[in-house]
Amino acid sequence: MTAHERAANIKLIAFDIDGVMTDGKLYYTDDGRELKAFNTQDGQGLRFLQQAGVALAIITGRTSGAVAARAKNLDIHHLFQGVSDKHACMSALLAQLGLDWSEAAYMGDDVVDLPTMQACAFSAAPDNAHPTVRAKANFVTAHRGGEGAVREVCDLILAARQGNSHA
Ligand SMILES: [Mg+2]
Repeated sequence: MTAHERAANIKLIAFDIDGVMTDGKLYYTDDGRELKAFNTQDGQGLRFLQQAGVALAIITGRTSGAVAARAKNLDIHHLFQGVSDKHACMSALLAQLGLDWSEAAYMGDDVVDLPTMQACAFSAAPDNAHPTVRAKANFVTAHRGGEGAVREVCDLILAARQGNSHA
């Protein structure tokens, strides 16, 4: 099955943050606050996906105010920070939304993301993901995390849905 075929019927996509929506670097201020940089083209792609009726979620192992602010900015209400078991978190979210793994997608960059990625109908990884994740993802983006990788996945899902509706 091609990546497009896998992505065509997705109703929910969850994203890791570090290394996916960001470049994976953790910037600290002198007073210990953490800074992250997000990509505006990624943000636009996420808005397009939402407008197309795809539910969005963020599931991250770390916790930061920057992520909460970014989620609020993008109207992403399914925000889960400080998550140690991402698969369990995703499973609970799917149950809450009345969805099945066959309607779910996940984008991650490290081995902790793999159980969730492999349970979903469609999985994506940025170009600079860990080699094991790269090898197992259904789709590896040409862009790196924080540099348009998320937009690439949004565009692929939108194109796949359009292809589907014309079939
Ligand atoms: Mg990560």
